[in-house]
Amino acid sequence: MRANCWMGIRNMEVRDVPDPRILNQRDAIVKVTSTAICGSDLHLYNGFMPTMVPGDIVGHEFMGEIIEVGRETKAVKVGDRVVVAFPISCGQCAQCKRGLYTACENSNPNAWLAEKQWGYPTCGAFGYSHTLGGFAGGQAEYVRVPFADVGTLKIEDSSLPDESVLFLSDIFPTGYMGADMLGLKGGETVAVWGCGPVGQFAMASAQLLGAERVIGIDRFEYRLEMAREKAGAETLNYEHVDVLTALREMTGGRGPDHCIDAVGLEAHSASPMYAYDRAKQMMMLETDRPLALRQAIMACRSGGTIAVLGVYGGFIDKFPMGTIVNRSLTIKSAQAHVQRYMRPLLERIQNREIDPRFVITHEMSLDDAPKGYKIFNDKVDDCEKIVLKPH
Ligand SMILES: [Zn+2]
Ligand SMILES: [Zn+2]
Repeated sequence: MRANCWMGIRNMEVRDVPDPRILNQRDAIVKVTSTAICGSDLHLYNGFMPTMVPGDIVGHEFMGEIIEVGRETKAVKVGDRVVVAFPISCGQCAQCKRGLYTACENSNPNAWLAEKQWGYPTCGAFGYSHTLGGFAGGQAEYVRVPFADVGTLKIEDSSLPDESVLFLSDIFPTGYMGADMLGLKGGETVAVWGCGPVGQFAMASAQLLGAERVIGIDRFEYRLEMAREKAGAETLNYEHVDVLTALREMTGGRGPDHCIDAVGLEAHSASPMYAYDRAKQMMMLETDRPLALRQAIMACRSGGTIAVLGVYGGFIDKFPMGTIVNRSLTIKSAQAHVQRYMRPLLERIQNREIDPRFVITHEMSLDDAPKGYKIFNDKVDDCEKIVLKPH
């Protein structure tokens, strides 16, 4: 089969690789009909995630048709159309039973690597480094889905195109979880750093959950325009305004009630802090540059919550702990527990409360994946979200 493989930093290649096979009786093999490139795939592309090996098949957002199942796979069968959650989770361990699917204790064969890096093991994930299990990803014609009973959502409604449900695999639940973490009661103002796809879903979800105003922050005009026109946000371009001053002015001097970091470890800014973080990153004295997170903490109204959705891999510097303590702030974060949100969010799509297609700007064949990574990474051609078609 054909699959998009990581071959080194900023080097993706669509290659011929062996077809996947059932290895465990709880597996299913999915023929991929649609898959997407995620902002977090760019962290692999740019070499920020350790334990990638040349030849690794990437991609963790995909859906398709089940063509084979192991004997113990009961909830889905051959011929079913399914969306697959990016975390691989057993559904039976103590963490899965609490709904903390990305903290699954059973699904990561390289749990020791994650444990060494982060203290305790984490789940496996599709196409996302050997620290997360070294599983082949879904930017491919076929993929093996372990624990298929837990990680797949059957789409019965054939009137829904792939593009409307594909993002249940990651970015819609991820954005929604950020809004869910804020404990909204109605009427709040929520500021969201990053108007990439996850930021767009965080903004749309905050409104679904009762926020009165959402403010999107980015530096790319095409993303800010999408935030205004499709996600119902007011926007700030941080290259044109001082974000802290602007947010204060927009909120009667108190700041937004809650903040969401949908940027993560590769943040940009024009400030001297950017040069500081970039230099420390290059000297391996800091792994992640938390510019958006620092600003979100400083901006948030006293007593508010900062939900961190952006990917961080390791350690950050100049973290304003004093602000958190002295202003009663709460930080919440997780890799999205996608399996928890898939079904309720599918219902919202079916009820026409939201159509996730609004983030798609490009559709390409799988063979064009390397080109897709380049334009998405270079932020050219107004590229917000790319869907790839393997067949
Ligand atoms: Zn993703
Ligand atoms: Zn588990």
